[in-house]
Amino acid sequence: MSSYFNEEIETMTRDELDALVDARIKYTVKYAFDNSPFYRKWFKENDINASDIKSHEDLRELPIITGKTIREKQPPETEEFEFRCDGSEIYTIHETSGTSGTPKAFFLTWDDWNRYAEKYARSFTSQGFGKGDCVVVCASYGMNVGANTMTLAAQKIGMTIIPEGKCTFPVRIIKNFEPTGIVGSIFKFLHLAKRMESEGLPPQESSIKRLVAGGESFAEESRRYLEEIWGVPVYNTYGSTEGTMCGECSKKVGLHVPEDIVHLDIYNPQFEDFVNEGECGRIVLTTLIPEGEKTGTLLLNYDTEDTTTVVSREKCLCGRTHMRIINPQRETETVWVAGNPFNKVDIERGVFQRDNMDYLTGEYEAFLYGDEMETALRVSMECEDPENCDKDMIEDNFIKSFLEFKPHLQQVHCDGNFKILFNFTGPKGLEFYKIRGRPKRLVDRR
Ligand SMILES: [Zn+2]
Repeated sequence: MSSYFNEEIETMTRDELDALVDARIKYTVKYAFDNSPFYRKWFKENDINASDIKSHEDLRELPIITGKTIREKQPPETEEFEFRCDGSEIYTIHETSGTSGTPKAFFLTWDDWNRYAEKYARSFTSQGFGKGDCVVVCASYGMNVGANTMTLAAQKIGMTIIPEGKCTFPVRIIKNFEPTGIVGSIFKFLHLAKRMESEGLPPQESSIKRLVAGGESFAEESRRYLEEIWGVPVYNTYGSTEGTMCGECSKKVGLHVPEDIVHLDIYNPQFEDFVNEGECGRIVLTTLIPEGEKTGTLLLNYDTEDTTTVVSREKCLCGRTHMRIINPQRETETVWVAGNPFNKVDIERGVFQRDNMDYLTGEYEAFLYGDEMETALRVSMECEDPENCDKDMIEDNFIKSFLEFKPHLQQVHCDGNFKILFNFTGPKGLEFYKIRGRPKRLVDRR
């Protein structure tokens, strides 16, 4: 089994890789000027020459594009889709789900599809998948690019795909076809494990050798718990319609960014400059086009609204030289209390403390109430059996781990101005069960 999908690119030296990135930035910016109505106008209005953008540092001269910018530059706001490139044959058209307003349109060429698939092919291979593997894809098909590009990636590797689209498929699928992997999300894997157990096929005794998790950020504790109940490694991935796709390799020391096709800069909160190496900041994405290839939608400096930290740009234990980042977190899932931020993932860490999981299902939701002076965080957790649940222990574990690396918040908590309250429910007792769509696990009700 070969351990690389594209060895030459994946193991380039840092200098070669940086030179390739700069060359592609130059080509991509020229492509934007030649083909994108938005950028053509922008360069003209700002009196900047596309040829002045020569390296990734120069990208700071270009505007930061947000989801809002895309919506403002497409019908009905404008006559045409200004981010759609002229002169490229569009193969598919996509829209985002529109959870935060009007759906954003994306246009993909066949080159785009192959580039997206290459990212997944590299990621799968780095996780030990190869020819002869069979993978159930539980990410949804349809307008979502991810599931479809994974399927195309499988063809390039020689893998079999079972395109279920959801994790509610019958256990028969695993019994009959003996897949070696599943692509899904942490909570889907939890539910599936329970269902398999109750139908007489314990996950540990199944054919599954690896799980690939994506779609949302999660705590290391929930990954560890899943690995325990499935008895296999769980690998993390991070992807979006806008073109990011990073995956953990089998060493699990950060997510590799395919730097030759996806350029990530990490900005400070004011978007004035890049953060120092090793500091947390906002992920700003630039799609890179290899010379001669075409693209349908071109985004330079796209603000993903996610945050991360670079782990390393040094060669990984797996031999890959492409940089590694920590599991990105969504800025929209971060709240501030008394000047201190915390994320949904911090709540999840508290819930998934190992001893808690002897009583809990893992499902939870948290709400913030109060005002400037006094804030209360109310955490609801679902129990298998609320009557026989060691609530004191769970509460202690939660508070200890939640406040562990947050000295300021700990102080506010001690002073009594930040209360943490708990609520335990039986199965299906959480509020989010009554609302359609993906559960919101941390809701600010202040
Ligand atoms: Zn690696």
